[in-house]
Parts: sequence; structure tokens; C-alpha cells
Amino acid sequence: MKQKELFKELFATPKKVVIIPHIKPDADALGSSLGLCIFLKYLGHNAVVISPSNYPEFLRWMPGESDIICFSQKTQPEVEKHFSEADLVICVDFCALQRSRLLEPFIQDFQKTTLLIDHHMDKENVFDGEWWDENAAATAQLVYEMIGFIEPSYLKDQDIMACLYAGIITDTGNFKYMSTSAETHRIAMEMKNNELNTTRIQELVYDSNSLNRIQLLGYALTKLHVHPEYHTAYISLSFRELDRFKYQVGDTEGIVNYALSIQGIHFAAIFIQIKRGTKVSFRSQGSFSVSNFAARHFCGGGHHSAAGGVVNTQLSQTIKRFLAILPEYQEALDY
Ligand code: 5GP
Ligand code: MN
Repeated sequence: MKQKELFKELFATPKKVVIIPHIKPDADALGSSLGLCIFLKYLGHNAVVISPSNYPEFLRWMPGESDIICFSQKTQPEVEKHFSEADLVICVDFCALQRSRLLEPFIQDFQKTTLLIDHHMDKENVFDGEWWDENAAATAQLVYEMIGFIEPSYLKDQDIMACLYAGIITDTGNFKYMSTSAETHRIAMEMKNNELNTTRIQELVYDSNSLNRIQLLGYALTKLHVHPEYHTAYISLSFRELDRFKYQVGDTEGIVNYALSIQGIHFAAIFIQIKRGTKVSFRSQGSFSVSNFAARHFCGGGHHSAAGGVVNTQLSQTIKRFLAILPEYQEALDY
């Protein structure tokens, strides 16, 4: 059966559905999960979003957000119950199971149908059905397409549109990144035609910073390192520095883009100290593929121009290694 038909058939009769975004979900992961959850409930399914971790404060406005279960020791029994009763598990905005972190064993052990809706490159072949397109600008775009295929009247729903629009604007850098297609703009146009208050969503997503977050950004920018010979700039943040600005999940998101916005910089990185070692984020402009770079050197992956990974080495060691690798890419970065 064609993949799209499989989704249609599975959604045709009432089911218990568990929807999972990736660890530390961003607006695309959370918006896609919630948009899908609202849609499935309209169709008569019993659906719930289970997040592998908590998520940024600035996404708390999303419709259905208060019903999300965040995995923790406390919620574990509830999560176990949902998995044991579920007919369907849907992974949203990630396709490498380790990105569901502590939920990974639940997905591995799940005996019934698992589905994927995603646009990442490093896909594992472990799903029974896939709505997957690595060229899609956002997973939210794929959820929109899927709803259009199954029951297009729900594309006019204000709650669904709000969730999906948030995913699209953040994953495309407000329609700036290369992945933004005519289809992306068409969807935005359709939402506008369907009376979505896009300015409100923009404000909810972008104009809701805490003072600490903005001051952390200001601080991070003062310690930008620039290597013009490699067209590269990077920033690092330790626990101590994050603590100083009362770090909350999501506060460092987007900082790396400022490094990339410097004239002549084609490759930007941010290194953030975490309990397990160091979280790295890479961004590029032009032909240099950060997904290859992240996969090759930093146990990660992602997209051509936005990728990341987690390594178990300390912050300073990780940066040292990064600087040692750079010369190998001098030619590739010179354009
Ligand atoms: P960010 O740098 O904003 O955390 O992530 C950018 C992109 O990099 C994500 O959309 C995802 O594709 C990829 N990415 C980030 N962290 C990881 C990781 O730990 N593993 C893998 N495989 N990809 C990651
Ligand atoms: Mn995404």
C-alpha cells in the first residue's frame, strides 16, 4: 500500500495514539505534534502528546499544550500506561530514535504500528509507515499536507493553523532558509486566506523573551570567536555562564544564527555545556554541509544548513577538537 494511503486507512477508524516530538522540542516539533493531535481528536481518536523532556516557555501558548505529558520519573507510570494501551505511536520531527532519548526503549518495545512524520536526513528504517520528505521546509508543512490529503476541511481550523504556522516560520527562519519552497509560501498564503492572525503568532513566538534570555544573548555575543581564514565563527557557554542568566530550556536557541550573520562567515557553531558533555549546534550558508560535518565529527546530523550533535567530552576539549579539525575544511569553506 502507498505510504499516504496507509496513513489514511489507519486514521479511518478510532484508535489510541501516542505522539512523540524529539527531545527539547522546538516550535516545529511541538507545533507539528499538537497540530496532529488536535486533528486526530477531531477525527475521533484518543490522542496524546508525550514529550521526552520539557520545552521552552515561549511555546506554552500553543493550543493543547497543557495536555502534554513531559516524561519524568513522576510521569513514568502514566507514560507506561499510554504506551501499553496505544494502537499507534507517531514520531514527529525526528527520525533517529535516539533523539527521543528516554522514550527510545518505549518505542523500540512497542509491538503495534509505528509511524513517522519528518523531514530530517538521518532516517532509520524502523517505522511501519512514513510521511517523510527531507526537502520539506518543516515537519509542520508535512502535517499540513497530510491533513489536506485526509480531511482538508480541518485545514481551516484556527488551532491547527496556529500550531503549524509556528513550526513553519521557525524552521524556515521566517521564510529565509533555502528549504523554503513555493509550497511553503502557498501554505502560508492559504492560512492567511483562512483568516489566521499571523502577526499574533509571530509575536507569541518572537516577542516573548525573558530579560534573562536577551541578556544571555548579549553576553554570548561579547565572546564570539571569529576565524576569518576559515570563514568560521563560534560561541561557547558553560554551566556557570548559563546559571548567571538563570538559563531556561530554549534560551540558547537562535544564538548561533547571530554568529552566521557576520559578513563573510559561512560556518557558525555554538558549544553548550550539558551534563553528558557538550551539545553542539552548527549552521552554514552556501555549499558547506553541516549535517555531514556533524555526523562525521560530532555524533550528530540534521540538515544541510542546520545540524547538531551531542558528544561526551568536556566543553574546552570539544572546542579544541573543533579547532583542530577546521583546517581540513579550509578549502570547502572558501567560497
Ligand atoms: P539545533 O542546532 O537547533 O539543536 O538543531 C538543528 C538541527 O540539527 C535539528 O533540526 C536536527 O536536525 C539536528 N540535530 C540537533 N541535535 C542533534 C543530535 O543530537 N543528533 C542528530 N542526529 N541531529 C541533531
Ligand atoms: Mn523541524
